[in-house]
Amino acid sequence: ALAYFNGSFIQSDEPAVPIDERGHQFGDGVYEVIRIYKGRPFMLDEHLDRLFKSAEAIRLEIGHDGESLKRVIGELTQKSGLSDLDLYVQATRGIAPRNHLFPACPASVSMTAKPFREIPAEARATGVSVMLHPDERWLNCWIKSLNLLPNILAKQAASERGCLEAILVRDGVVTEGTSSNVYLVKDGAIRTAPLSNQILAGITRIAVQRIAHELRIPFVEQSFTPEELRQADEAFITSTTMEVMPVVRFEDGSLIRDGKPGPVARALYERFRTITGQD
Ligand code: PMP
Repeated sequence: ALAYFNGSFIQSDEPAVPIDERGHQFGDGVYEVIRIYKGRPFMLDEHLDRLFKSAEAIRLEIGHDGESLKRVIGELTQKSGLSDLDLYVQATRGIAPRNHLFPACPASVSMTAKPFREIPAEARATGVSVMLHPDERWLNCWIKSLNLLPNILAKQAASERGCLEAILVRDGVVTEGTSSNVYLVKDGAIRTAPLSNQILAGITRIAVQRIAHELRIPFVEQSFTPEELRQADEAFITSTTMEVMPVVRFEDGSLIRDGKPGPVARALYERFRTITGQD
């Protein structure tokens, strides 16, 4: 796949990043995954906003403003020859001999442009299984940091039990998924954890909130327990690459209601496809 690293366009499998790079050695950086539908980035301003917020939170000066990042993203998209792609953007504290203290060097910016990571149509039609897992992450989950070890371990554990996602539980309530936000539907209202330092402010969450408003479906930002999730009428998760994905089953085989995707998730997904130009 086509990639970008500090001013050069390269292939993503070409050696380009020095060993003494802080993303590589420390995970000292932040990132975004942006979806481009038919050549048009979806909610790009919101993604760049979040990237700059994450960077500021870790005291990282990216060395590009929004316009400059947009130019590189546009150029990479065009050179990739793809029209539907997942664009990964990463900024790190740069290239310097390994030392925990901040270096004086400029930040590194890298990107990759890859075809959509397609979710099997079957998963969307039948809904997916999830595993409940303790949320073992740090307390700044609103920062989209490169440090994803707890997320990786939880998602791998879920996958080994036949589940698409691990739903994280902290202090008795659901925070979010390892790479998604989590919602239940009860008595016609959508419920999801409020924005806090314990979850990432998902861009798809913003889109879903807007769609819910349009469709006059109440959108309540209030945490819920795993038990409330089990007793819900419907559940779903959202992310840039999964869009709106119905959740129907837990790792122990128990079902959410009849174990079929519900009407609210379907309505949100249909509208999401329209606003992203897929229909
Ligand atoms: N939470 C976490 C921990 C994530 O990694 C992601 C995926 N970036 C999300 C939520 C969903 O965010 P978005 O809708 O912006 O992809």
